[in-house]
Amino acid sequence: MHTAFSGIILGVVLALVVCAALDGFSAPPDAPVEAASKARQFRAGAATSNITPRLGTSINGYFNDRRATHIHDELHARCLVLDDGQTRLAIAVCDSCMIPREVLDAAKRQIAEKHGLAPEHVLISATHTHTAPTSAAVFQSEPDRHYTEFLAGRIADGVGRAINNLAPAKIAWGVGREPSQVFNRRWKMKPGTIPPNPFGGTNDLVKMNPPIESPNLVEPAGPTDPEVTVVSVQSPAGRPIALLANYSLHYVGTGRDAEVSADYYGAFAERIGQLLGADRQDPPFVALLSNGTSGNINNINFRQKRPPQPPYEQMRAVADAVAAEAHRVCQSLQYQDWVPLSVRATKLKVGVRRPSPEEVERAETILAQAKGKELKTPEQVFARETVLMKDYPKDMPLIIQAMRIGDLGLAAIPCEVFAETGLAIKQQSPFKPTFTIELANGCSGYLPTPEQHQLGGYETWRARSSFLETEAAPKIFATLMGLFAQLR
Ligand SMILES: [Zn+2]
Repeated sequence: MHTAFSGIILGVVLALVVCAALDGFSAPPDAPVEAASKARQFRAGAATSNITPRLGTSINGYFNDRRATHIHDELHARCLVLDDGQTRLAIAVCDSCMIPREVLDAAKRQIAEKHGLAPEHVLISATHTHTAPTSAAVFQSEPDRHYTEFLAGRIADGVGRAINNLAPAKIAWGVGREPSQVFNRRWKMKPGTIPPNPFGGTNDLVKMNPPIESPNLVEPAGPTDPEVTVVSVQSPAGRPIALLANYSLHYVGTGRDAEVSADYYGAFAERIGQLLGADRQDPPFVALLSNGTSGNINNINFRQKRPPQPPYEQMRAVADAVAAEAHRVCQSLQYQDWVPLSVRATKLKVGVRRPSPEEVERAETILAQAKGKELKTPEQVFARETVLMKDYPKDMPLIIQAMRIGDLGLAAIPCEVFAETGLAIKQQSPFKPTFTIELANGCSGYLPTPEQHQLGGYETWRARSSFLETEAAPKIFATLMGLFAQLR
């Protein structure tokens, strides 16, 4: 109550200052009051933009490429715009595995040119569904320029349409828990049971996705984050406008790898709309499920096999469970009719783990021996990655962004972030609660902690999907804490 009240006072004071600056001495006596109430108005708008590809499009997410044979469900860029009268923020969550910085920068340029919103005020993330078109070159999948241009334009249109839909709103947030759907996928195994890695090394101490119910399982190599963060936006009369949720789960998988699907992120959006009775609205209600910090988290219970299921059943079950928890959180939310918004973003230079000349030479020898058009073994696949990374720069600038929505904190990181880092951000942020959206504003590969780098395993193996220096996570964490301090 105290902070809400001081927020109101601060808002009025700021509004008066701005009004005075704009109107000078010529303002009629009642203008400051009028302008203050306008500056104090909280508005929200939401819209979705269809980003479904043509059949035949490349689908990424695995070592080998796939081509879309069918569209199971449409893909969307789900967009939410918030405006406190002075500051406007846009969040777009896209049904994609990962989207490179160039494509997102192109979308942001269009948003700035056509809709007047500065790039720093825009957060665009990928959900990490593994059944969406290739937008970033990953392993043996290559992006189609026609699709990525279409994607950038459609994201910009979605944000523009959300701006068109801006209307008076109230906002609330809360945090629930759904621990039953998240599992750490990196396991410590009995000595001598972890095979050599694709570089010939035998020093990996963890195995990603070990065989389920293996007698060699010892324990997971890290934690999970079971929180379901919910941000709800309604009209002053209580009509749902949008719901932004956040859960730390890599993806679920559909069981139909060559079919395009938004995975459980899309099913969640549909389900929460049903639970809130928000279908058939004009403008339509928009739900966004953003990915938290799930670089090492998936939906597989390694201790216990699941009975076989038809395609799309597990995806729906997880979506229903997370939506049920989000809905439960919604029942006890306290809405505020105005909160301050602010954002800070910076470009952080992070070092790159470049291959040595000897490593490149070994990789070239392996590739010279590979037969056929498609590489089959992990050794060959990672050899190709090594060769492709030969001329990588020694460091890369990453966009690190922090938003403040009232007392709620939001961190955006362009990586597949390990749960440890997400939990630390939640704990150390001055804003309570805080949550993180990963694969936001770019895609710079896995982000293990230095401790997890020591343990080795898939997510640490150098490739275009894991190339940042081993100290990248603490550097990004420190940068975010600096941004949060500025936002206070
Ligand atoms: Zn991934």
